Amino acid sequence: MTRTRIWHPFTQHGLGEPIPNIVRTQGAYLWTDRGERLIDAISSWWVTTHGHAHPRIAAAIAEAAGHCDQIIFAGHTHPYAQAVAEGLTALFPPELAHVFFSDSGSTSVEVALKMALGYWANRGEARHRILVLEHSYHGDTIGTMSVGARGVFNAAYAPLLFDVETLPFPADDTAQATLDALEAACRAKPAALIVEPLVLGAGGMLIYPPSLLAEMHAICARHGVIFIADEVMTGWGRTGTLTACEQAGVVPDIMCLSKGLTGGSLPLAVTLASEAIYDAHYSTDRATMFFHSSSYTANPIACAAAAANLAIWREEPVLARVDRLAVRQREWTARVAGWARTVNARTIGTIAAFEVQDHERPGYLSALGPAIKAHCAAAGVLIRPLGNTVYVMPPYCITDDDLAAIYNAIGEALSRA
Ligand SMILES: *Cc1c(COP(=O)(O)O)cnc(C)c1O
Repeated sequence: MTRTRIWHPFTQHGLGEPIPNIVRTQGAYLWTDRGERLIDAISSWWVTTHGHAHPRIAAAIAEAAGHCDQIIFAGHTHPYAQAVAEGLTALFPPELAHVFFSDSGSTSVEVALKMALGYWANRGEARHRILVLEHSYHGDTIGTMSVGARGVFNAAYAPLLFDVETLPFPADDTAQATLDALEAACRAKPAALIVEPLVLGAGGMLIYPPSLLAEMHAICARHGVIFIADEVMTGWGRTGTLTACEQAGVVPDIMCLSKGLTGGSLPLAVTLASEAIYDAHYSTDRATMFFHSSSYTANPIACAAAAANLAIWREEPVLARVDRLAVRQREWTARVAGWARTVNARTIGTIAAFEVQDHERPGYLSALGPAIKAHCAAAGVLIRPLGNTVYVMPPYCITDDDLAAIYNAIGEALSRA
């Protein structure tokens, strides 16, 4: 047992599992205080896109830190936020005309939900119900847990979570059921549908096709239901394109972005909103302004990092790097599909995932995940399975040799687990 002073997230300290002390990061690597090198096969929980300690992003952070560190963003602005807004305009659909800053994926989703309800309230219509997809994850605050899957993670807080309408996850043979449920739910005039486009991340890297995303969007559009795309994980190239929505030709009413927004260097998020959402709050009446802020909204240093990330996207062949990684992941997934104990090997863009059969305790509390993780750590590879779902999601700078090392470590871990 290790009763540590620092209380870590999603960590059962009573198990006494080792807590490596990471003292340096660079590219696809982490180094511990004991000089061990780990290959970061999960992009430090899905945030690191180009690579750790990217020189362009690090330089932008250093400049801003010594020049303009923090200002009040209510009623004030600064060039770093403006550079982010302009950079987003250049890369994202023009319909997503307005940018609201916050500081994490969870807050970007809270903002999206508040915008949706504010839209209806300011139009004088009492619509507040939110539709969600089964197995969704949108964050760990009370609001975002409410729109996410219920389970062991949030059972203790269930009395505080608000009620939502859950649509069945669109598996291959139940896609029509999802659409039918959405169609039926829309008739009761809900406020909004929130989805993770194409991939449900924390729910177990569950993938559904672009055609379904397009159909869900079309149904919402037909019924005037606000469509919120939570691209916090899927954005910034993860699914092979800048956003997952792009593959379905979908422009949502509201889009949440975080994680890779700063290349994975600093906490920052944006919620992009359509003209209609902004207009519903726009008036000479102070009572209809958007009532949301946090102390560090649009922090200049974090914005400088995001502006540097956007410049990298504009000026460097990021999608070519993503494509190369996607090809390797596809090749590996095809091999994994032939392994004895693996089920449902799948891939989309830079993400590859599969389940390891666990007859004793499948799901998030499976003991296989931690065993495989521990074996990989000993082999110099950082992964963090979601229960018995193993996935690989590295930064785009990863070399073929390092990918081979990841794939080998997982293969060996499975043969021993
Ligand atoms: C990680 C994640 C969030 C929450 O982001 P945080 O920055 O951890 O608050 C929200 N939605 C999705 C889809 C995510 O993957």
